[in-house]
Amino acid sequence: MITIEQLRFTWPGQPQPILDIEAFALNDGEHVFLKGPSGSGKSTLLSLIAGIHTPQSGVLTVNHQALSRLNARQRDQFRANHIGYIFQQFNLLPYLSVLNNVTVPLRFSNVRRQALNQSPHQEAATLLDRLGLPANCYHQPVTALSIGQQQRVAAARALIGAPALIIADEPTSALDADTRNAFIRLLQDRCRESNSSLLFVSHDSQLARFFDRDVSLPSLNRAMHHEEASQ
Ligand code: ADP
Ligand code: MG
Repeated sequence: MITIEQLRFTWPGQPQPILDIEAFALNDGEHVFLKGPSGSGKSTLLSLIAGIHTPQSGVLTVNHQALSRLNARQRDQFRANHIGYIFQQFNLLPYLSVLNNVTVPLRFSNVRRQALNQSPHQEAATLLDRLGLPANCYHQPVTALSIGQQQRVAAARALIGAPALIIADEPTSALDADTRNAFIRLLQDRCRESNSSLLFVSHDSQLARFFDRDVSLPSLNRAMHHEEASQ
């Protein structure tokens, strides 16, 4: 699902690369936990995988597509079609209802619209129900929901239309431990149902036990080793 070779990325104006990764792969259907302390480049790596930023060198393929072969507009469409993104701060649209937040990705992707077996609102309701959100919430503005409930809306929005890859960037840091564990289990169950691969990022290494495999970004990253060596 993801292959990385000799990937280097430097933020503009920085003297050193923040990422220098020799090799990484995430297999189709795999659920991988990517851990690393704050500032180690986790979100940066996700932004490269999602095609939001582009590396200066190296090979990066997602869902069998080399991202370097796409221009910026094609990368935006590729992301809309194949990647569901769960953000730490949710990035939900406050003026829209719960159902209309979940269906937003369908507006930008025929691929995901065509993957539905029922109407967009029915599909959204099915996903929200499977994620444990009570039906009396569905027509409320998202701002009326608790943090844990908003997190489920963000997950449903990422999952709708069964994108090949779900990326989750520290989605549980605002949740208490019980809510967090339940959320991870529900997210993984829904990923398995839609055959989506999952790349889940957190600084909390305790969460590794929920996943097929865990990878530490500092140990993947030669840039970090250079930094440590020079300190
Ligand atoms: P993590 O998600 O592991 O906490 P980030 O990828 O957010 O780490 O950040 C890694 C480093 O990259 C930070 O130390 C920061 O200085 C730098 N960085 C992140 N975003 C930007 C940006 N938009 N512009 C310049 N530098 C950035
Ligand atoms: Mg981050």
